[in-house]
Amino acid sequence: MFKRPRPAHDVEVTAVAPLTSTLTRITFTGPGLSGLEIEHPTQWVKLAIPSGPSRAYTIRHHRPAAYEVDIDLVLHGNGPLARWAAAARPGDRARLAGPRGRCPSFDGAAHVLLAADESALPAALTVLEGLPAGVEVSAYFEIAGPADTLPLPARTGLTTAWLPRAPAHPKGHRLTETLLATDVAPGTTAWLAGESGAVATVRRHLLTDWALPRDRVHAKGYWKHGEADHKG
Ligand SMILES: Cc1cc2nc3c(=O)[nH]c(=O)nc-3n(C[C@H](O)[C@H](O)[C@H](O)COP(=O)(O)OP(=O)(O)OC[C@H]3O[C@@H](n4cnc5c(N)ncnc54)[C@H](O)[C@@H]3O)c2cc1C
Repeated sequence: MFKRPRPAHDVEVTAVAPLTSTLTRITFTGPGLSGLEIEHPTQWVKLAIPSGPSRAYTIRHHRPAAYEVDIDLVLHGNGPLARWAAAARPGDRARLAGPRGRCPSFDGAAHVLLAADESALPAALTVLEGLPAGVEVSAYFEIAGPADTLPLPARTGLTTAWLPRAPAHPKGHRLTETLLATDVAPGTTAWLAGESGAVATVRRHLLTDWALPRDRVHAKGYWKHGEADHKG
């Protein structure tokens, strides 16, 4: 089976703006970005840096007329992309390959459950912004500390739980603990992403304890404790 080749775009950093203590927004520009086809929420690209490594990152915003994309990166300090992002400055070069990713279906959902850590917060927000009005949404976002919330779109029927991590707990603990103790409305469609172990535990819980159908649980491990370049 052959993989469809993904277009790669040489880009330059035009802006770097901290969003929270752990998330920074990098704006990239490049002549190929006007033709980037972003068709649905959660689409992502491989961001490659000049030293070689590449990792998956969500396209948070695409402004084709301005040849620009925004990517929000977690500054976790432990990998080449996180270190590159922490030092990124306008004029730095990189390469984006893609977009990739399937469209998660929320057709007919009366209620949507979103669960994410910071790495998946950008993708979760693209989902939230794309949902039709009238859909009830319960969002659970694990963040570093109480000051690390982000502005959310105003919509009726949105309930958000920001879940600051206790310093003693590993990433994913608070999200898992909260969701294992949360009632799930019948007819829920769930979208979960973040640390792989946490996502797997919550997914299993939704399928077995709440009997959500498999096609109503969209779950993806975005990274894994102790594993570089995790393929979810
Ligand atoms: C489809 C998809 C979309 C994604 N979108 C985004 C996005 O928009 N923004 C974003 O920040 N990330 C996103 N990620 C996650 C990102 O690809 C990983 O976090 C990636 O591992 C970061 O690369 P790195 O070079 O910094 O670390 P790596 O070299 O991959 O890993 C080095 C070490 O850092 C640890 N690590 C990796 N990520 C984290 C983290 N978030 N927190 C703590 N420790 C970590 C690993 O466990 C490993 O021990 C996405 C992943 C996928 C699959």
